[in-house]
Amino acid sequence: MKVDRVAVIGGGPGGLYAARLLKLSNPAADITVYEQSSPDTTFGFGVGLASRTQRNLRLADAVSLDAIVAQAYSHEMSMQVGDATARLAHGDLLAIARTTLLSILQGQARDAGVRLVFGERREPAELDADLVIASDGINSATRTANPEFGADITTGSGLYLWCGTDFALPSAIFVPAITEHGTFVAHAYPYAVDRSTFLIETDVETWRRAGFDNSTEATEAADSDEVSLRYLKTAFADTLQGHDLIGNRTRWMQFRTVTCRSWSAGNVVLLGDAAHTAHYSIGSGTKLAMEDAIALDAALSSSDTVEGALVEYERVRRPAVDHLQQIALRSEQWWESFPHRMDLPVEQLMLAYMTRAGKVGLDRFLESAPDVAWKGIASYGNADVDSGPPEDVSAWVLGRELEHARGSFDTRLAPDALRDDPTTNVLTVDVESAWNEKATALVDEARASATVWLTGPVERAHVLDRLDVAERMMQSSDALVVVDVPKSCLPDAVAGLVSGRAHLVSVGG
Ligand SMILES: Cc1cc2nc3c(=O)[nH]c(=O)nc-3n(C[C@H](O)[C@H](O)[C@H](O)COP(=O)(O)OP(=O)(O)OC[C@H]3O[C@@H](n4cnc5c(N)ncnc54)[C@H](O)[C@@H]3O)c2cc1C
Repeated sequence: MKVDRVAVIGGGPGGLYAARLLKLSNPAADITVYEQSSPDTTFGFGVGLASRTQRNLRLADAVSLDAIVAQAYSHEMSMQVGDATARLAHGDLLAIARTTLLSILQGQARDAGVRLVFGERREPAELDADLVIASDGINSATRTANPEFGADITTGSGLYLWCGTDFALPSAIFVPAITEHGTFVAHAYPYAVDRSTFLIETDVETWRRAGFDNSTEATEAADSDEVSLRYLKTAFADTLQGHDLIGNRTRWMQFRTVTCRSWSAGNVVLLGDAAHTAHYSIGSGTKLAMEDAIALDAALSSSDTVEGALVEYERVRRPAVDHLQQIALRSEQWWESFPHRMDLPVEQLMLAYMTRAGKVGLDRFLESAPDVAWKGIASYGNADVDSGPPEDVSAWVLGRELEHARGSFDTRLAPDALRDDPTTNVLTVDVESAWNEKATALVDEARASATVWLTGPVERAHVLDRLDVAERMMQSSDALVVVDVPKSCLPDAVAGLVSGRAHLVSVGG
């Protein structure tokens, strides 16, 4: 269908990109973006764009993607713990300053014929349009004002702050810093020749012990928490190489995951962070917003009415968003529990990191970064790295011996007799999250057991939860931990073994 008048509330990446795509598809339409801030408001630092996102954007609009790539900064990825660094080759990882991205998207929208109005806050009731796109961000007033969207917002337990520094790190890094108050982890990546994003997170106890509850309270909304920035500059001195941490309304926050029962109400549709958020550790917020725009444009082109298009948009888009939000939630929980994994050798920590959310399996990691992946697997199996990976890595992993206080095992496949042993505590793990109260009660039970054998539903989400509960047990007890895994989830079992999420596995039919 052709739309005549479209109003877009919010000139972030989602709103600007949607406006451009819709204008390209509907050249005669009157499309206006209303942005409450000025065009050059600098909020935020860099934004990452992975290779698959670049492919999707290229298919939708090669011109704007070329403009983005021309100003983006390519980098690699590594994890650093102490003196050890695991470097992951990753050629297509791009980052760009959020301000640069916005200025490119503003230009691209204008070139297409979109009208941009800055410094004006709008709400749907004021706008006379066939379609209102509410891309008004995580704090969307449109979403809050209308219960029809059925919004649900959950808050993560950890705290993070978003800052930057004035030099380009050699690669994206994940680096923990242990201080007298606890552990802080930085996710940092370069996004320009003289800039890197620094995202730092910690747990609430460490945050309090360091006195950041006070500095957070004392920081005005328009200021940065300089007390925290000074402290973190010292904590991450090695990584920062003497550079400062730069704030921009930088303060400690807790991540909010937004989900909505419905993304549209009448002719108003939510897009991007207004509709859904995904934890920053999977670097997908901007991608999701821009891919929403692609789906909305396609739905409008293929439908006869606005109403039909909004149903189609949600039908096509929701499964991908739900899937990514699930991955993001696992990733968030992994990072929130990161300090418990500090004993793993850094090579294995890299395996645990890559496979943390069940998105990347060991095979894919081996394909994309054979050296790093094999180093981790060899470290797990006490093998000589120079020997190179075996042909069948899964069989090799499962075939490793295990020496444990509970006994010696020829392979990582648990013998059936172990389950029947009277000292084995067979526990059914049927939890909504590996971190909820029910899961914690099971973890407590493992402390009083010599061997725990975790069983439960066969669906993959449950298997991943089971492995996460098993990991918690391995970290907090001396028990031998066995996990039941259906054959269909064998790659998860193998990834779990090398990442310290199970001592042994039992692979069922
Ligand atoms: C710490 C952190 C790190 C992140 N790192 C990454 C990353 O590496 N990669 C990535 O892809 N994403 C990242 N994100 C997420 C990313 O910033 C957002 O997901 C993305 O900007 C969402 O785009 P959007 O267009 O939906 O909303 P936004 O970019 O939030 O834009 C919304 C716009 O609407 C405007 N607005 C709001 N209300 C009104 C109104 N009533 N009238 C007019 N204008 C209004 C706001 O001023 C704003 O400009 C990160 C987020 C955080 C918090």
